Amino acid sequence: MKLKLNGWDLNMVFSSCHFLAEHDKCSRLHGHNYGVHLTVKGDTGPDGIIMDFVILKKAVKAVIEDLDHRVLLPGNSKVTRVVVDGDQVTADSGNKHYSFPLEDVVILDLDAVSAEMLAHFILQRLLNSLELPPNVQAIGVGVDEGKGQGAWIWQKL
Ligand SMILES: [Zn+2]
Repeated sequence: MKLKLNGWDLNMVFSSCHFLAEHDKCSRLHGHNYGVHLTVKGDTGPDGIIMDFVILKKAVKAVIEDLDHRVLLPGNSKVTRVVVDGDQVTADSGNKHYSFPLEDVVILDLDAVSAEMLAHFILQRLLNSLELPPNVQAIGVGVDEGKGQGAWIWQKL
């Protein structure tokens, strides 16, 4: 069986700013409302459930709270150089130079801040923070960049 949690309906959403280096339009700094969805596949336990919805929602909200109302920068990018200098962060991408207050920024251990990479990041954080019962067989995370378009990642357990 499968559990499905829809981020738009459950307020598992965050608003953040990013850019995609070397992309025609998306290389300009811009923002999205992101919706985070979760699917958990597994057998039901003796209590008749796969896993408690409440635990899953809390875990997702804890992860996205760190991303909300921030500028998200790719710390592992080969084309964007991100440097922390005191209380400022600079990001150099092609001929563009950005500078942000450190408190407004999250530097992610990612090559790019795409929906795909954000899904990967959120999945890893959930796998680290959640205690998944043995009946859970797989977990999937979807990240929408606005409604209607998003990326999904799956992890078999
Ligand atoms: Zn974007």
